[in-house]
Amino acid sequence: MNYLPFLFCIVSINALVYDFTQDYHLQHDPLDIFTYLTCLAPQLALQECSIILNNPLNKSVSTMGESSYKTEGERVLLAYLCAKKRMNPELPFELVLRDTRGDYTVVFEPGETRGMQHYFLQRMPECVSAYANPSTALRMSEVDTPYEIHVDQSRPGPRALVTGCSGLLGSMLAEKLLEKGYQVIGIDNGLCSKQSNLSKIIDNPNFYFCSHDVTKPFTIMGRLDMVLHLASIPSPALYYRMPLETLDVGILGTLYTLDIAVQKGGRYLFASTSEVYGNPEVNPQPENYWGNVDPMGIRSPYDESKRGSETLIELYHKKYDLDVRIARIFNTYGPGMRLSDGRVITSFLQSLLKDKPLIVHGSGNQTRSFAYVTDTVDGLVRLLDYDDWIMKQVQDDTYYAGLSQIQERVFNIGNPTEFTINELAQIVVDLGREKLGKNATIEHIDQFDATDPYLRRPDITKAQKLLNFNPTVSLTEGLTKTLDYFLHTQT
Ligand code: UDP
Repeated sequence: MNYLPFLFCIVSINALVYDFTQDYHLQHDPLDIFTYLTCLAPQLALQECSIILNNPLNKSVSTMGESSYKTEGERVLLAYLCAKKRMNPELPFELVLRDTRGDYTVVFEPGETRGMQHYFLQRMPECVSAYANPSTALRMSEVDTPYEIHVDQSRPGPRALVTGCSGLLGSMLAEKLLEKGYQVIGIDNGLCSKQSNLSKIIDNPNFYFCSHDVTKPFTIMGRLDMVLHLASIPSPALYYRMPLETLDVGILGTLYTLDIAVQKGGRYLFASTSEVYGNPEVNPQPENYWGNVDPMGIRSPYDESKRGSETLIELYHKKYDLDVRIARIFNTYGPGMRLSDGRVITSFLQSLLKDKPLIVHGSGNQTRSFAYVTDTVDGLVRLLDYDDWIMKQVQDDTYYAGLSQIQERVFNIGNPTEFTINELAQIVVDLGREKLGKNATIEHIDQFDATDPYLRRPDITKAQKLLNFNPTVSLTEGLTKTLDYFLHTQT
């Protein structure tokens, strides 16, 4: 990709002003513009300069619209820049946002992140120490040449790549694919997953495990039929602390895996998230809702990594006619998570097991809809297998009218039964009493994340109609199984 024309047209060399508000030159490939904004431009922030962005603060924009390569590209860039400043307020660049009223310079509050670090050290020390430090997580390819993954070419059967294969979803999906006769290449760097999740398949001769970080280039030798990109840093507790790594797993990891899918001609499944809807103004959230995400908020590294990935996938789909599918996964839990993961279900179960109060953030009236892992994996397998893109069943349904080719390929996967966090806490307390004879208590603390979504519930009509997807495990049933698991593993 040649970035030189960009540098000439937007950089005023002397003044070091990077002005992204000038017209993008339409003769450039949208994919090049997007990758320029998201992959190269963040590097500019390391020097003394002014970076001007064109009104990227509009909270409601589509990830897959005609001009998403610019709007979403700028939002990802903004998320990167804010994350860089939060992690290192001394960085010399200045960020200027431009809208119809003029320009204004963003002032970063020093100590914002340090405050959060303090919160986690005080409140959740186990969570902080349980995660591998990014610098000590397994990194196999600190070299420029792509890491080569070799598999036994003589083995028959289709072949799939699963990134994030030791995670809750990745490990179960790998199992399902092996059952279906696939050879599975699993990649994970161990940053936020459990190697023990692979115990059932690690000795299977059709399973190849690679300790690799998907933000570093890699190639697969030989043929490949499917790419499932599940690697991510999904726990707010972790992505608040590692915003740049979180953006990289989304943007770079998605870029590399898409390149592999194009090279090999394989099908591509992406694990997106309900976080693309941000703090939603509609409830439940259908797939055609554009979302309400603050690209400067402390959740933006995760949200924009997934939103930007969706845009990237759309651009690859258009340019290379790649067979893609996007699952927007709502809160999923179950055996295989880390007890110290930091997300609400594991936090409550950990408190229960350690005889500590369950900590509810804010009023506890915010809602979530929790899917048990087997239900979510079932939805993902259905989406992977789905082939009938002619939406006969819903042709007359005005809800789906006018969907573009790519929007047809986006599915909410989750359980539509909604609970407040207070209700969840009470269910865990009741479970503790019934199962363990404990009298757990609930404690409320101030909400420290202003962008914590107030509502979250999937509209799964589309997955129900087209994939015949219907979650079956109730929250109480799923929590009971998860508690049993943690009683045995304690981690
Ligand atoms: N939460 C809580 N106590 C905890 C952890 C989380 O009250 O110990 C709240 C959190 O503020 C959010 C909800 O529970 O409103 C779900 O948080 P989680 O970290 O599981 O993930 P999210 O759905 O926000 O991505």
